[in-house]
Amino acid sequence: DGLSKEFPVAGDNWLAPKQTLRAVQSVSFELGSRQTLGLVGESGCGKSTTGRLILQLIEPTAGTVRFNGRDLATMPKEELRQLRSSMQIIFQDPQASLNPRHRVEELILEPLYAQGEKPSAKLTNYAGELLDKVGLSRRHLTRFPHEFSGGQRQRIGIARAIASKPQLIVCDEAVSALDVSVQAQVINLLQDLQDQLGLSYLFIGHDLAVVRHIADTMAIMYLGRIVEMAPKREFYARPMHPYSQALLGSVPVSHPSKRHTRKRLEGEIPSPLNPPTGCHFHPRCRFARDVCKQQVPELRSITPTRQAACHFAEEIAAGEGQRAPHSP
Ligand code: SF4
Ligand code: MG
Repeated sequence: DGLSKEFPVAGDNWLAPKQTLRAVQSVSFELGSRQTLGLVGESGCGKSTTGRLILQLIEPTAGTVRFNGRDLATMPKEELRQLRSSMQIIFQDPQASLNPRHRVEELILEPLYAQGEKPSAKLTNYAGELLDKVGLSRRHLTRFPHEFSGGQRQRIGIARAIASKPQLIVCDEAVSALDVSVQAQVINLLQDLQDQLGLSYLFIGHDLAVVRHIADTMAIMYLGRIVEMAPKREFYARPMHPYSQALLGSVPVSHPSKRHTRKRLEGEIPSPLNPPTGCHFHPRCRFARDVCKQQVPELRSITPTRQAACHFAEEIAAGEGQRAPHSP
């Protein structure tokens, strides 16, 4: 609720003033049990920082994170430590997140060791069961990460994430480094595990075509702010925010006759250190008007199920054909 994170950034040289990077600005959302929220945006938009804030890996500058209704910031340390096992993360690069000198068994059980458990035959057997669950064999328990393919390593990362029986897993670009065919397998695995184990996912990604397969709800981020939230089907059928439209327009379309209707995302993403005034998207927005340069559009309800942060969301949703787009 209202999560913000600022990082101090040193200037280019000792004379340059210190700057503040506002990585995440007033981000609010809910994630229900057994639900998947797809958090999507270009690199540097603050989506990974949001994931780390949720997991308490970094402290928010403002705002609160509640888990099962409880404010994590005011929770006693010991309780928070136990609760940590209910929240896990899967990273983009399993190569970097798995210690190369540790065997698979040790890697998978690491969250349990962190909770104070000691190695035992029972735990070894449990690690074998976890490998079965993620589609690998328990024969692999004594192997090292380098002996596996990228997809297999990500399965090991998933086995580790579910070892402590979490309720929430933040998947931070969890399939982005994998080949397309392997991506589909890992997404299917994540969905099976969600059904079996009752997991909730915060699924962070930059590829709308991938996130579509797993999300129930979509949240689109641009330069630290959520600009649109919607149920998945409604979002993909008709994105409302001009940034979402452009982002979806840059997804390759297979049917050639549809190509001309696609809107491209033009211009570079501005520096998050020096974001545009008003609506951060205005320099790239084909609907921008003067007010967009001055006033920050709040994320607000446009329909009972949908939210967008755009001064002209209703007009744009009603059909852009009704008025000519303004040039930025
Ligand atoms: Fe475009 Fe203005 Fe809406 Fe921002 S507020 S997305 S600049 S129309
Ligand atoms: Mg990231």
